[in-house]
Amino acid sequence: FYRIVWFRNDLRVHDNPALFHAAEDQQGVLAVYFICRDMLQNHCVAPARIDFIRRHLLLLKSDLAALNIPLLVINLDSALEIIPHFQQLIKTHHIEELFFNAEYPWDEFNRDKQVSEALRTDAVKVKRFHDRVIIPPGMIRNGKDEPYKVFTAFKNNWLKQARVLQLQPLKKPKRQPEQPIVVMSDKALNDLFKGLDLRDLSALWPAGEKEASSRLKQFIKQHIADYHVDRDFPDLEGTSQLSPYLAIGSISPRQCIAAALQANQGELDSGNPGVTTWIGELIWRDFYQHVVVDFPYVCKFKAMQKHTEAFPWRYDHTLFKAWCDGETGIPIVDAAMLQLKKTGWMHNRLRMVVAMFLTKNLQIDWRMGERYFMSELIDGDFAANNGGWQWSASTGTDAAPYFRIFNPVSQSQRFDVEGAFIKTYLPALAKVPSKVIHNPPPTPGYPLPIVNLSLSRKETIALFSALKP
Ligand code: FAD
Repeated sequence: FYRIVWFRNDLRVHDNPALFHAAEDQQGVLAVYFICRDMLQNHCVAPARIDFIRRHLLLLKSDLAALNIPLLVINLDSALEIIPHFQQLIKTHHIEELFFNAEYPWDEFNRDKQVSEALRTDAVKVKRFHDRVIIPPGMIRNGKDEPYKVFTAFKNNWLKQARVLQLQPLKKPKRQPEQPIVVMSDKALNDLFKGLDLRDLSALWPAGEKEASSRLKQFIKQHIADYHVDRDFPDLEGTSQLSPYLAIGSISPRQCIAAALQANQGELDSGNPGVTTWIGELIWRDFYQHVVVDFPYVCKFKAMQKHTEAFPWRYDHTLFKAWCDGETGIPIVDAAMLQLKKTGWMHNRLRMVVAMFLTKNLQIDWRMGERYFMSELIDGDFAANNGGWQWSASTGTDAAPYFRIFNPVSQSQRFDVEGAFIKTYLPALAKVPSKVIHNPPPTPGYPLPIVNLSLSRKETIALFSALKP
């Protein structure tokens, strides 16, 4: 072999820059994936997500084998063991170059930096590509060459650059020369995950590139035109549900943009409002990835707006547990938290509702919610999750203003008008009439509200307004 491709959250063959470029001159490519148990644990990766990784690796292994690229999956207790493993592989297989796609959160960035430096001293060429975003960090800057803190300004600059950039996905990587490759068996791969907490959600979230691209096609065909209207209603299939696939990298954001452009006569920001609104969400995705690079302290448990660190967050474990378990007595919050527990995913409108409820009504530290989300989400992504939590807690860049607090009951009345979503997850409320289901009378089998919404709202606004920016 001549080159190694190090796979991480880019578990696909198509439109994968590191793989595409490594395979270009057909001199033999080896692929490797490290299961780093310490990182999975420290980053609270959800059992559903770990199982999703396992299922993706099984498919990736056979897709790569069809290109004559063997995939080695290696189990490590600690990410510190990556360097000696690479050194061993390089020696055994006479590797000259390492290719990988960049990851931006602080721990991953530093891991990659250390590996690159160690291998370069061993005379290995290291090539890093941008894949996780559509426009790489560092490229969207204001007139003073500073990063944007406000999304709209970031988006305008993003659109200006995207109009002239090549946004088309890459072609399929080239097949490598035939070689006697020993492909790891499915059993051997599955065995590497022994001892890890796994949750099989394959019925809801089948793995793989094929699944991801058929979901994308289906969404473009059936839902994107109404996305701007339907996306706020949790009971409708109004959004793409592609986040788990984007987070694990079985589809790329470029593939998503290309499909959206095709459905919109190549227009990025005019034409069908459903398409342009959806593209706007992909730009939010880029925005938060840029934030973790430009303001790395957000990766160290810090608020983006430093003065908000003085907010007297509470650490009430009984209230927190009621929130996690969907037992707050506020139906829309509880139904949403049960959707998360049962499906490993939550609708975006509800993520904002439950995050605001935790931080603004229960006044619980947003970092506890952020961590809990990561431990349950199949689409857990540090940048998007941290961005979403800091937005809801009013501690983030371009966050919700602290005085604009969602009332979960009115959100429920607006976006789950008939209470159909609530009833899906809360059978105890099945017989409660739609008119009152958002704020139900005492009902057997359903808890009373754990907090007074209007009093807690007033108190939070007063506490925030006392903070000195
Ligand atoms: P669609 O509406 O179809 O959007 C398409 C894609 O755009 C999504 O798949 C996602 O990759 C991206 N996207 C959409 N909205 C956002 C957004 N607000 N911020 C960043 N990217 C976005 N998203 C994650 O992928 N992982 C997370 O861990 C995560 N945690 C969140 C936590 C909170 C508190 C909040 C408020 C939002 C969070 N989001 C997260 C963003 C958003 O809720 C999900 O991306 C979205 O619900 C996924 O559903 P979808 O694929 O149907 O999205």
